[in-house]
Amino acid sequence: MIPVDYNKAIIQPVHASWLEVKNIELNVLRLDAIHPVISGNKWFKLKYHLKEAALQGKNTLATFGGAWSNHIAATAYACKVAGLSCIGIIRGEAPAVYSSTLLQAQADGMQLHFVSREAYRSKESIMQQYQKQDYYWVNEGGFGETGTKGAAEILGLVEDAKTYTHIVAAVGTGTMLAGLINAAGAYQNIIGISSMKGNAQLLQDVQALTPNAVAKYAINHDHHFGGYGKHPKELLEYINQFYLSHHIPLDIVYTGKSMFATQHLVETGYIPAGSKLLFIHSGGLQGNQSLAPEVLAF
Ligand SMILES: *Cc1c(COP(=O)(O)O)cnc(C)c1O
Repeated sequence: MIPVDYNKAIIQPVHASWLEVKNIELNVLRLDAIHPVISGNKWFKLKYHLKEAALQGKNTLATFGGAWSNHIAATAYACKVAGLSCIGIIRGEAPAVYSSTLLQAQADGMQLHFVSREAYRSKESIMQQYQKQDYYWVNEGGFGETGTKGAAEILGLVEDAKTYTHIVAAVGTGTMLAGLINAAGAYQNIIGISSMKGNAQLLQDVQALTPNAVAKYAINHDHHFGGYGKHPKELLEYINQFYLSHHIPLDIVYTGKSMFATQHLVETGYIPAGSKLLFIHSGGLQGNQSLAPEVLAF
């Protein structure tokens, strides 16, 4: 069963003077709209894991993430739909008050196992502790080949995908980016905007997932706004202003930074005049609930 509604993945044009002066067309693929919980890229990254778990005869899927993780929220829901039991290894001691993400995951049937930040660093030893349970494991953030295969289907939702010169997407683990790269043509440029500060491993990870890529690609590391999960006032103001101008809600961890970066890359000429841009809205809006309710305009 497919829980998401692909028909809701509309293409929304953005009209702004910073685009018009450069004669650049920008369209946003609204993957955030396909589902309230498994939104954005997460369904694409999980779908083949669900198949694989079934194929291997496993009845429980286990994965890792933080208290506001989009991956945790999406995995819990995906497992519920697939009829799999689900374990979430959560970074940090159990909080007195659960985040809305953890509450949602729990309501969807995920068992939450909290581990100290220290212990969380060694995924191998955690997995070893559960050795006897015969779980189907999914990497933190859904990183890897199986997720890449699903993410390669994202561009299939865009009828005229081949007409874009540039495709911009937010990057966490690089799995979605790798899928987009694998699906793109030789004349296309895929630009990933990293949400992390100086993730030196990222390029190698993406290279390993795209051995037969023909598209050109680059990862931009200049728009992390202080690091993963950091959202200074400047970013929040940009997100609010973007919403008021274009009626597109962005998230504070990924897509807000990526849209800001897109504007910067257009204004500086890195993305050349006359280009046709596709921005992948990869979702993540549930994470905005970590903010006080009056901070964002939506
Ligand atoms: C998970 C996520 C990403 C990162 O995807 P990767 O495949 O890990 O690079 C980007 N944007 C949003 C909104 C996400 O939730």
